[in-house]
Parts: sequence; structure tokens; C-alpha cells
Amino acid sequence: MSIRENIHSLRTSLPKDVSLVAVSKFHPADNIQEAYDAGQRIFGESRAQELVLKKQSLPEDIEWHFIGQLQSNKVKDIAPFIHTIHSIDSLKLIEEVEKQAGKHGRIIRILLEIHIAREETKAGFTEEECKDLLSSIHLEDYPHVLFGGVMGMATYTENTEQIHQEFHRLKVLFDEIKSIYFTEKKGFNVLSMGMSSDYKIAISEGSNMVRIGSNIFGERI
Ligand SMILES: *Cc1c(COP(=O)(O)O)cnc(C)c1O
Repeated sequence: MSIRENIHSLRTSLPKDVSLVAVSKFHPADNIQEAYDAGQRIFGESRAQELVLKKQSLPEDIEWHFIGQLQSNKVKDIAPFIHTIHSIDSLKLIEEVEKQAGKHGRIIRILLEIHIAREETKAGFTEEECKDLLSSIHLEDYPHVLFGGVMGMATYTENTEQIHQEFHRLKVLFDEIKSIYFTEKKGFNVLSMGMSSDYKIAISEGSNMVRIGSNIFGERI
């Protein structure tokens, strides 16, 4: 199937309230353009340098999301245009996003990445760390940061029961955080979970944003 057909079949099969982030990392700008021409507007990239380069040759109205590990010294490169950063895993990063977004008079939406997988390798806050962080900061100190929700990745496994459980935990945490820290604040409404192999499970557990790469663009080279 072509990129165009993949985009169409995904867009018609996803529930209306679920946003699709087309993960285009490692794929050339031409492929992104093809997805764009099929109507896709939200794209996810995982390396700052690659994103900055590709962006130059692509339409202005793309909504760029950053989904990979982000070093704080790279925030300045994407701050002029990035819409959402899914991979926020430290206070240091939040402070850097505030500083750089402020310089451009922008508000950048961030998602707190939560470690839900049993694998050691995956990044993110533990549930405890996340709540401690939110208890210790004042949201008013970050006028250029929109706390938009949470992101998580399940363990890469054939065990679908385990994937269900991990996504379920994240949904429970999301609801809890929202009701404790964001009752007065608008905008905390994104539950970013689900990739090519597990997005259907994620949606059944309450995801409202899926990040899909290989199912659209084919395997990464
Ligand atoms: C690469 C990546 C994806 C997309 O993975 P696919 O399996 O290709 O759909 C989603 N989320 C994150 C954080 C990624 O790094």
C-alpha cells in the first residue's frame, strides 16, 4: 500500500476523538509531502537536527511534534516552531522550554513522559516522580509552557494482556493528575499512547493521540 492509502485507511478507521501523529523520523521529506497531500497535518520527529532540516522544505502549516529523547541544549533549535513536545522527562527540560519559548513569544505544549513499561531502557518519570514534580512547581511560573497531558510507551512484547495493563495504568494516572493538579487549568487533555504495533490496544484503554510510523511509511531503514 502507498503512503496515501495508509493515511486514508488510518484516518477512516481511527475514532474521531483520536489524533494521529504521523511519525516520519528517518523518512525523507518527499514521503512526508506525500502524507501531507493525503491530508495529514501532524507529524512527529525524534531528532532535532533532522527535524530542522526537513521542516525547511515542507509546508508551513504542518503541526510538528517532537517525540524523541530531547537534550536541553537542543530545545533552542526547535523552539521557534515546535507545537508539542511529547518527551518531557525532567524539570530542567521544562525550565528550558519555558526560557526558549519565551524568547520567541510562543507557548509550547508539553506532555510529561511516564515510564510505564517493564523494560529498563525506556525513558520517563515514574508515577511518583511525576506527582512530586507537579506538587513542587507553580504552573504560573511557566507562562510559555502549556501542560498538555502525558505520554507513555508500553513494553515491546507479544503479551497483549501486559500491554493492556500498562496503558490502563497510564490512563488512571492521567485522570488522577488531571483531577488533582489541573482542575483550574485548561488544556491538560492529551493521553498520547499507542504506536504501530499497539495503537488499537491503546485506544481501547483510552488513548486520544496515537503516534504511528511504520504502518504509514513502512519500516525504517
Ligand atoms: C518511533 C516512535 C514511534 C512510532 O513507532 P512505529 O512503531 O514506527 O509506529 C512512536 N513513538 C515514539 C516515541 C517513537 O520513538
